Amino acid sequence: MLQFTVCVAKRSAAVDVTEQVNTIVQNSGVGDGICCILVPHTTAAITINEYADPSVSQDLLAGLDSLVPWSADYLHQEGNAAAHIKAALIGQSVQVPVENGTLQLGTWQRILLCEFDGPRERSVWIKLVGS
Ligand code: ZN
Repeated sequence: MLQFTVCVAKRSAAVDVTEQVNTIVQNSGVGDGICCILVPHTTAAITINEYADPSVSQDLLAGLDSLVPWSADYLHQEGNAAAHIKAALIGQSVQVPVENGTLQLGTWQRILLCEFDGPRERSVWIKLVGS
């Protein structure tokens, strides 16, 4: 399994991992195909969105905080139910086309690891399928 880890120092953060993924893709030898990216965690997630203006990801995190407050009448005893809900909303995987050994993303698109229960070290798993 191709993978790398990301250390997140805060409880909530969006971390741009596009270059780490692209480096793995470029070193893989896969020219054309699909790149599947999975975060194997239940309180972190991965998505594709803008990072050129970091305030977009700050707004994303703040919007999720508004939808899913940290403290509420949750049943989960670990105390991080909000992080589980946010991770479920965002999702654990994305797929990106690969052409000429490079991720094919829109001009403003970046791959963002979303931490909802940090600080923690998170893994990002990558599977490449050539076509
Ligand atoms: Zn939990």
